[in-house]
Amino acid sequence: MSEQHKQWIGGAWVNARGNKTRDVVNPATGKVMAVVPESSADDVSDAIASARTAFDSGPWGKTMHRDRGALLFKVAEAIRARAAELAEIDTRNMGKPIVEAEFDAADAAHCFEYYAGLASKVHGMTLPVPDNALSMTIREPVGVVGQIIPWNYPLLMAAWKLAPALAAGCTAVLKPAEQSPLSALVLADIFEKAGLPPGVVNVITGDGPEAGAALVADARVDKIAFTGGIDAGRIIVKSAADTMKRTTMELGGKNPNIVFADADFDAAVDGALFGAFANQGEVCSAGSRLLVEKSIYPKMCAALADKVKRVTLGDPLQRETKMGPLVSAEQRDRVMGYIEIGKKEAKLLCGGKRGSGALKDGFYVEPTIFSDVDNQMRIAREEIFGPVLVVIPFDDEDDAIRIANDTPYGLAGAAWTRDVFKGLRVLKQLRAGILWLNTYHPTYNEAPWGGYKQSGFGRELGVWGIENYLETKQININLSEAPIGWY
Ligand code: ADP
Ligand code: MG
Repeated sequence: MSEQHKQWIGGAWVNARGNKTRDVVNPATGKVMAVVPESSADDVSDAIASARTAFDSGPWGKTMHRDRGALLFKVAEAIRARAAELAEIDTRNMGKPIVEAEFDAADAAHCFEYYAGLASKVHGMTLPVPDNALSMTIREPVGVVGQIIPWNYPLLMAAWKLAPALAAGCTAVLKPAEQSPLSALVLADIFEKAGLPPGVVNVITGDGPEAGAALVADARVDKIAFTGGIDAGRIIVKSAADTMKRTTMELGGKNPNIVFADADFDAAVDGALFGAFANQGEVCSAGSRLLVEKSIYPKMCAALADKVKRVTLGDPLQRETKMGPLVSAEQRDRVMGYIEIGKKEAKLLCGGKRGSGALKDGFYVEPTIFSDVDNQMRIAREEIFGPVLVVIPFDDEDDAIRIANDTPYGLAGAAWTRDVFKGLRVLKQLRAGILWLNTYHPTYNEAPWGGYKQSGFGRELGVWGIENYLETKQININLSEAPIGWY
């Protein structure tokens, strides 16, 4: 009973040229749940042509800001109305617990509302130039944007990309991850019903190396916004350089979650588990390195090994499930490979096995924790992107900061302490873009999201998010009747 889908190009639902298709797998069962077009470079070219025409001669760029906002409010309302359907699709398509998928749907609706409101607040300035002139800036959409998103938050990542781009007046070609294209197609249906002009958004369902690469290489695309792994990010930045495209990159992390001895211990244990295992740990901002002050290290390890039992692995459609399967067999094998490395490097505290019994056909991996970890070990340095937490001891504040920053990444991090001054002192010294004190993971549409160092560049969300999709133009007006220049 696998549904056949089409991709959305130029306002029409179409097959891939040559009718090539790709199977979409439900990771909880390992079975095919849908079939989507396998977009070729030619399909991508069609989508770019549509987006280009919609930008250059269509009504969207000339639509008043507040009217664009009104349409985005309609989209938000439709996401709310279809939230249960969207959540179930993401859960079935990539395995996240249904409760988390429902949260994502609500968050996606709010993201559209945020940028619906912001659409009419974009404005330029006048500049303090000499009296004989008036100088001003106006803000214009950057043009056609290619948006490439990962499989860990399929609907939410589509919202983070499309909402600000549309608010800015851009047109877009969105490429969801090949593993999880289904909710983006529902979003396309929502756009169509909301009355978005044809070609303003196009959704292509191809893979990275062919469809994604074609989108990045095409000279008709003005900007690429990417969220994904660092390896793909590197390839994309290099390719985009050929046509001098603007790029924003939201890549991986190996984020430090620092627990001091004076923290609220039970809250820190909960935060450590939630930081590491929410969304199966398939989160760029996951708190995958737990740094624990030495005096409470044994107590923390014991508490983690005990409390991890609450992170129930199971069918992600069941409301009591706290962790579902990983997205694919490939991802499961990658994570299991790291677990094998970890067993040689450190001490396995709990987990470490694939799902068994009723879970054996899905791509399940138990929540896994390693203790006695040194920050130089591979399991402490490389992003695993799965349910694997490493626990590293530290001596004091300076030692915690040193270990936390000893990573090529710089996306997120947290500190747990009752001493708020100490907590802020530590967070100020972390070279990372997203930080939490005495909590982990809350993400706000109003606040800037993005990384330092090799975690990428640019900031999404908030007022920063729309900046990515705007150019700045200066216009200067002569107010004097004096001769021009020295002629
Ligand atoms: P993973 O390795 O877990 O699949 P990726 O970073 O490869 O994560 O995938 C994130 C997104 O980037 C997906 O939509 C994928 O199709 C796309 N992608 C992967 N490789 C490339 C590439 N070379 N060019 C453009 N897009 C790519
Ligand atoms: Mg890949």
